[in-house]
Amino acid sequence: AVRIGALTRSFGPRTVLDGIDLEIPPGQFVALLGHSGSGKSTLLRAIAGLDHEVTGSGELRAPQQVSVVFQDSRLLPWRRVLDNVVLGARGRDARERGIAALAEVGLAGRSDAWPSQLSGGEAQRAALARSLVWEPELLLADEPFGALDALTRIKMHTLLRELWERHRPSVLLVTHDVDEAIVLADRVLVLEGGRIGLDLAIEVPHPRSYRDPLLAEYGERL
Ligand code: ATP
Ligand code: MG
Repeated sequence: AVRIGALTRSFGPRTVLDGIDLEIPPGQFVALLGHSGSGKSTLLRAIAGLDHEVTGSGELRAPQQVSVVFQDSRLLPWRRVLDNVVLGARGRDARERGIAALAEVGLAGRSDAWPSQLSGGEAQRAALARSLVWEPELLLADEPFGALDALTRIKMHTLLRELWERHRPSVLLVTHDVDEAIVLADRVLVLEGGRIGLDLAIEVPHPRSYRDPLLAEYGERL
């Protein structure tokens, strides 16, 4: 589980996160919305343990095994796809796990490709495969589909939800796409004024349709 109490982060005189309290139970799929500059990436980085300057009286507890996916795949261009996917992974079966992860994201057979030979959507699939190799208890994703076209994005939504159903990590998905948030997540948070301004459970069964009128109702509340 993720447990955050009174988490604060300032940049100079500007307080971006102002005493965030948040708990994410194991296996919950959460989306985080908020205006540009509201501090979504700052919060995600703090939870990922990438920010050593978070302050406050608060506590920050995240699971041991955390994977992060960003808007760009961050594949190393000088390594082949499979080598990227298993980079740093230990164990004799690392390559097998990498091959299985690539198959899971629909990239079977692309192991030996170079990152430059992948489309944007394929590169994000590879980034998801890389995150799976670590068998994360928590998957943090910072606008992972933000740079993709609308049709590819919808395919990636289906893929992410399928991966979640199979592996059941907790997910914190940062997005500014309200539809993406309410179609994918079971709980939507809105970050505003340095705090969680809204914390909304989405009680619509999966698989969800983008045209579901129930979702539109949620959309109006966000
Ligand atoms: P977006 O939707 O545009 O990605 P965001 O919600 O992710 O926005 P953050 O990147 O978390 O926003 O930034 C929150 C605020 O903190 C912004 O005003 C930003 O300028 C500021 N900020 C973030 N990182 C730094 C830094 N390293 N130094 C100074 N200010 C920073
Ligand atoms: Mg951001």
